[in-house]
Amino acid sequence: MAKYTPMMEQYLRIKADHQDAFLFFRLGDFYEMFFDDAINAARELEITLTKKNAGPKEPVPMCGVPYHSADNYIKNLIAKGYKVAICEQVEDPKAAKGVVKREVVQLITPGTVMESNMLSEKENNYIASLSHFDDGSYVIVYNDLSTGENSLAFVTHGWDAVIHELYNQPIKEIVVSSNLPEKWQEELRGKLNVTVSFQDEITFNGEYRNLCGELNDERLMKAFSRLLNYIQHTQKRSLDHLQPAKVIELKNFLSLDMYSKRNLELTETIIKKGKHGSLLWVLDRTVTAMGSRLLKKWLERPLINKNLIEKRLTIVDGFYQSFMERDSLRDALKSVYDLERLAGRIAFGNVNARDLIQLKHSLGKIPEIKNTLHQFGNKQINDLANNLVWPKEIGSLLEASLVEDPPVSVKEGSIIKAGYNETLDTYRDASKNGKQWIAELEQKEKQETNIKSLKIGYNRVFGYYIEVTKANLHLLPEGKYERKQTLTNAERYITPELKEKEQLILEAEEKSVELEYNLFIEIREQLKEQIPVLQALAEVVSKIDVLQAFATVSEANNYKRPSFAEDELTIKSGRHPVIEQVMKDGTFVPNDVHLDNNRDILLITGPNMSGKSTYMRQLALTAIMGQIGCFVPCEHAELLIFDQIFTRIGAADDLVSGQSTFMVEMLEANHAIANATEKSLILLDEIGRGTSTYDGMALAQAIVEYIHNNIQAKTLFSTHYHELTALENSLNKLKNVHVRAEEFEGNVVFLHQINDGAADESYGIHVAKLANLPEQLIERANTILNELENKDSKNNTVSDYDETAQLSFFVEEEKAEDKKKVKNSDSKVIKELENLDLFDMTPLQAMNELYRLQKLTK
Ligand code: ADP
Ligand code: MG
Repeated sequence: MAKYTPMMEQYLRIKADHQDAFLFFRLGDFYEMFFDDAINAARELEITLTKKNAGPKEPVPMCGVPYHSADNYIKNLIAKGYKVAICEQVEDPKAAKGVVKREVVQLITPGTVMESNMLSEKENNYIASLSHFDDGSYVIVYNDLSTGENSLAFVTHGWDAVIHELYNQPIKEIVVSSNLPEKWQEELRGKLNVTVSFQDEITFNGEYRNLCGELNDERLMKAFSRLLNYIQHTQKRSLDHLQPAKVIELKNFLSLDMYSKRNLELTETIIKKGKHGSLLWVLDRTVTAMGSRLLKKWLERPLINKNLIEKRLTIVDGFYQSFMERDSLRDALKSVYDLERLAGRIAFGNVNARDLIQLKHSLGKIPEIKNTLHQFGNKQINDLANNLVWPKEIGSLLEASLVEDPPVSVKEGSIIKAGYNETLDTYRDASKNGKQWIAELEQKEKQETNIKSLKIGYNRVFGYYIEVTKANLHLLPEGKYERKQTLTNAERYITPELKEKEQLILEAEEKSVELEYNLFIEIREQLKEQIPVLQALAEVVSKIDVLQAFATVSEANNYKRPSFAEDELTIKSGRHPVIEQVMKDGTFVPNDVHLDNNRDILLITGPNMSGKSTYMRQLALTAIMGQIGCFVPCEHAELLIFDQIFTRIGAADDLVSGQSTFMVEMLEANHAIANATEKSLILLDEIGRGTSTYDGMALAQAIVEYIHNNIQAKTLFSTHYHELTALENSLNKLKNVHVRAEEFEGNVVFLHQINDGAADESYGIHVAKLANLPEQLIERANTILNELENKDSKNNTVSDYDETAQLSFFVEEEKAEDKKKVKNSDSKVIKELENLDLFDMTPLQAMNELYRLQKLTK
């Protein structure tokens, strides 16, 4: 077989080192891909697949994208979770002997993109690394390459906790050891939907020692090194904007498991996956991209330290009180550019002069912001103001050096101000004087030759020339001019003195453009040293922005400052922050909540659609708002500081995730029970719904009892099992509440009002009627209901409470009986049961399978 061409050999050598990425191989004005890369890229990018002769008989598959529009294609591949290795020609093709030398200059991956068109302004772009250690601990490192932020967290209680922690952070890519068990790698890919990358080198390479001050544990150093090594491997350049690594103590923040973050729709909604309709959507009154990102971070990690919460609230209070000043503050903040990402791009070397002018204007706003802050007359706000330092050096450097309206390109001059650099000024003078001289020459030649139409022009090929129309040629003296070009109507000439001047002008122009570029690079390098200053500034500005946003939204939506108590929670006229926004003004019905040490659990009953789920979520959202330092939707609130929030909410959403509803329910319930403390909040919404009535009810009751007796977490528990309301008699910290609904002329009217005591009736049929089911069907349902109720009252000889007690006994007995049967039956059934893949079945399939198995045992 014929050998590959030298270029293809070079390609194959480079590709061998980048198996997991699309290799964009630079050939002239195109990036080309070959072999499988070409086939896959043609499919993913919908571009034409062609072929190239590369030596052997069979041409190889090829496709390509133009160099100048590559960004969009790269963006597309990254968004799909792929990686792209950019391979450039690293020597001048003219100077090359043989094949032009090529190298991969950057590996772009979903977690390491820097290009602003691939980043979302209001979101961090995190890459994480995960390291596991022999003692069973894990360290997670987060980095946002666009802002330089680095943080680390220990996770000491198992793999599950790792997944919950990672799920709550918006990560795009995770770097792990190739020793991480395959099963876990799959879970990361599947549950978190992220790109998994590998880096096995975890020795610290010595660079970036200045970032490691807080890392006083060998495990932290190894984990951080894994990420740093990966980033260096992909970026292949110095990263001066990386910020010192911060250790996050997870136990210092309210912990939300992944179910809760999703169920409560804190940052995105379950179904549409968008911000609209989430708590973040309501609260985001920030005016800078930095602020918006910080708000999201705060929502992902609410506080549990009362002092820190109160500190935020005090500032929000200050902002809240003074509308006028807050308005000027917001105005000033609006003109502050994304300092954090700008710092990243300065380090990366991809800022232009326009960015720096924006930086100058942003910095120019700092004194105004500071002044405004001082006007609030609030000590905490004054402290914030004092942390805002106007970076004088940067300000004066930019002011002195850059013109106000520079072009996009930094390679074509017109960037640097006059007076900034003496040599540049001389070049500019030379060019200007030269042009002046030429203008004078034109006049002189006109007079001397008496040709009015004589002119001096310029083109790229011939430079400056004197143009004379054919009709006037006879007026030219002999020998003085040298003919250069003939046009239809005119001749163009040069003279030695014109060429001499031209030389000076062009040289000056060329030199000045080159010098401007160098000066710009110099300025950028000087700014690099100021990156930490910009980052510190960004941190304060984003904090101010979030806190003003809290004040703004609190005023707009009439929220109240909460206080915090040790063992009692009271909310007067509380509202659901999101639902009240999507409803017409004033139609949301406020409700009270009261929980204390004798009232740990509220068992909520009431008809469908009456507002049970809303009431439960409302409490969790209010707690979270309080713990991030925002005012809360109510008339008055005394809150508890929760250490964790667990939720089991809603059934509809699980259909989307593909797991069997009941299994998800049990996983979520188990997660709550295994981790909650008496300082936690648990929301269990209609648990047990996904299985048969007795089974479900038995489980629901057992779960409530367990929480009541063993955990004592504050719990809201809604149920459609009426029988459970009898638990109030046996569990002294459980209280019944119900949502009122009234019947009016045969229809049910929801009042959405929560009252003490149990609900008395199920309004299912009325709801069906509201949904416009056929009249005939509704009548039939009413008849059946009456029959059932009559039957029930005949059998019903024991009190409600006894009935449930009996019921759970009955269920237990039924289970024991089942066990016996299974034991005696064919072991084939057991085998089949063992082999069932529950996660891969719909509830209906499971039901059918059960039915078939049961038949086998009979
Ligand atoms: P349930 O869980 O009892 O079935 P939901 O909490 O899902 O009921 O509420 C059903 C609908 O009723 C909500 O979508 C909302 O439109 C409305 N709703 C709930 N609570 C209130 C309230 N307090 N005020 C006004 N409308 C409400
Ligand atoms: Mg509900």
